[in-house]
Amino acid sequence: ETSETLPVTKYDRNGCRKSASEVVSIARTAFNSCKTKNVAFRRQQLKNLLRMFDENAKALEDALKKDLGRPRQEASSFDVEFTKNDVITMLMHFEEWAKPEKPPKPLPNALDQICVYNDPYGVVLIISAWNFPITLLLGPLAGAIAGGNCVVIKPSEIAEATAQLIAELIPKYLDKECYQVYLGEVMETAELLKERFDYIFFTGSTTVGRIVHAAANKYLTPVTLELGGKSPAYIDKSVDMEMTVRRILWGKCSNAGQICIAPDYILCTKEVQDKFISIAAKVLKEWYGDDVESSPDYCRIISDKHYSRLNNFLADKKNIAIGGKSNAANRFIEPTILVNVNPNDSVMQEEIFGPILPIVIIENPHEAINFINAREKPLVIYVFTKSKTVKDMFANNTSSGNLSFNETLFHFTVDTLPFGGVGFSGMGSYHGKGSFDTFVHKKGTLERNFAAITEKCTAFRYPPYSESKTNR
Ligand code: NAD
Repeated sequence: ETSETLPVTKYDRNGCRKSASEVVSIARTAFNSCKTKNVAFRRQQLKNLLRMFDENAKALEDALKKDLGRPRQEASSFDVEFTKNDVITMLMHFEEWAKPEKPPKPLPNALDQICVYNDPYGVVLIISAWNFPITLLLGPLAGAIAGGNCVVIKPSEIAEATAQLIAELIPKYLDKECYQVYLGEVMETAELLKERFDYIFFTGSTTVGRIVHAAANKYLTPVTLELGGKSPAYIDKSVDMEMTVRRILWGKCSNAGQICIAPDYILCTKEVQDKFISIAAKVLKEWYGDDVESSPDYCRIISDKHYSRLNNFLADKKNIAIGGKSNAANRFIEPTILVNVNPNDSVMQEEIFGPILPIVIIENPHEAINFINAREKPLVIYVFTKSKTVKDMFANNTSSGNLSFNETLFHFTVDTLPFGGVGFSGMGSYHGKGSFDTFVHKKGTLERNFAAITEKCTAFRYPPYSESKTNR
């Protein structure tokens, strides 16, 4: 099919789909009406969003099951309940956060009033990835609503059932002009990106992040880019290996490894690798039984395309210490650990984003740090050690979006911690107050009075200049 013969899009079911420019123009008019400046209006919208979760939790979990084969516990804790908590946090605090802030006053401004207004940007675009299709879309939405913006949300077309459900639900619960869902694939998203937005919040791959950044550049639109990359896990022999294996495998096997902050690969010595493998075999059996494929607690790969990309990593059957089975019919890939992996192997050239865990042998933490620093900055670095010296070495000599000691994924859940990448893993961060701050412009203001004393105190600035004025 050429672009001419493509249907107006498969999203245009009844032939009355709004164009990207119409959607943005509706949002722009709504923003200009100042509706969303009203804090009570924002509160009501956030409450409606919360009610949407309460009344549709099961339907949302079913959609996640359909898209990702996601077990109910993962669907609830990672997506539905997690996002609900984001909305609750906003409801609890946003009115306080939205108030003009009074920063400390420098002495020369003793007679002035200074303050910082939290201005909404205006019309915001949120584009999201498919792996946590609710959290990554509606979490930022809560922040954007709280900040007083009008919002266009673009769910990932790849988590199709969830995207369709969100497109049905949002207009039932939220103001139809201020908050709109725009469904689409690459072509439709490209249309959207031609429009002028006041802020763009993007979650996805580094490759598409660049496209979004370039589009934003046209109008100097500020962006948050929540991207991916290869997040390493360093392990030394000082650790409790049983706990380390469980924590790393949980981070790698949840959602079948389709998590931006899943540990991508391990760096450790040969001795640590051997211990890791022997415990990992036992742990995986305990979690998923002898036949992982029949376990109800293990997800599937999102699409055939993603399945074959992952399956290719296993094609030569090289270095497989654990796992290695796959089934195209149901897009199953077994949790697989590859040992003694060469840094030049294909599995080490791109983000894995699936349940395959390569181990690269290094001799010591210095070598691990050099290995990491020779590559793009990761979204997160995991360091498993009891040694304070080693922890300090990683904290002071590496750069990554986040850094986590002796645990995986949990830093994502702490809403007082900024979550985000640096370099190729992204720019900007959010969560908690950070989600509110992302979507407001901090407008610093100064007000001076007309009192004679104020004028006298500041009159030295006026010409004619003199030595005595300069040196006062
Ligand atoms: P993706 O970049 O392929 O797609 C993300 C979004 O961009 C989708 O909505 C998609 O429709 C749109 N898109 C795709 N190609 C486009 C194009 N050419 N022009 C305009 N829009 C386009 O990413 P994905 O496959 O959905 O998600 C996986 C990636 O996202 C991984 O790299 C992962 O690490 C990353 N990720 C990051 C985070 C984070 O919070 N940092 C969270 C989840 C996923």
